[in-house]
Amino acid sequence: MPANATCRRGIAAGAFALLMFAVPAIAADAPPADDNLNAVLWMQRSVEYKGATMGAFALARVRLDQALADKTWTAAPVEQTGTFAEKPPAVIVDVDETVMDNSGYQAWNVTAGTSFSPKTWTQFVDSRTSTAIPGAVDFAKYAASKGVKVFYVTNRNADEKPSTAKNLEALGFPMGGNVDTVLASREKPDWSSQKGTRRAYIAKDYRILLLLGDNFGDFTDDYRGSEAERMKVFEANAAHWGRDWIVLPNPAYGSFESAPYGHDFKKAAGDQRAAKRGALTPWAGPK
Ligand SMILES: [Mg+2]
Repeated sequence: MPANATCRRGIAAGAFALLMFAVPAIAADAPPADDNLNAVLWMQRSVEYKGATMGAFALARVRLDQALADKTWTAAPVEQTGTFAEKPPAVIVDVDETVMDNSGYQAWNVTAGTSFSPKTWTQFVDSRTSTAIPGAVDFAKYAASKGVKVFYVTNRNADEKPSTAKNLEALGFPMGGNVDTVLASREKPDWSSQKGTRRAYIAKDYRILLLLGDNFGDFTDDYRGSEAERMKVFEANAAHWGRDWIVLPNPAYGSFESAPYGHDFKKAAGDQRAAKRGALTPWAGPK
């Protein structure tokens, strides 16, 4: 058989194989594309995600012990003012995608072809079906066993607070006893979605050992700038990462996702996607 015939046959076979693979992708009943499919799949189904969160909480446990032994240690350099060495210790954890897993809501949005809305979100919160992030309950219980108060500083709102507290409690998280440890957004007039005022409120009575969160705003109020501005703030706080500021992975949503389109949630979905694509740094491609 001539070499070119073999080659042609090879090409034909390759084209056939490509067609075989292509057919399912163009089938009329193919599910619609969703920008969050891989992120939610990873968070809900992968062992890699579970391993990452368990690693974060294992580090938090080590850091908690170090922080307890060092009375000059605080995780809130902006809000922890005055003397604090003898104040009782506390840790601040964010709720969503830090200690509670809401991937069911994200997955529902993917499969229903919808996106976040305050109405369906509140309905989800009130279903009290959030699960615990792997490693979170053990860490929180460990902290409580060392006499460390665990504060849940969340941007769930005041109306959503009762369901949030019940959900946390049902999952086995230590609650505050006679201290209200679930601090919701807008619960007080100056408690905005920026969490600095709530950190300051806690810092009045406690030495804050650690901040744990999945979003830049769980650590600093300067999270809503452009990507370049966020990078500057990130670098200025280099000493905190992995020491007293511990990040949980969340590729599904957060200020990282809205920074490329200026955090303008009213922008059309297509424009948001275009801005995010424009923010990528692609390889120049084959020469
Ligand atoms: Mg969160």
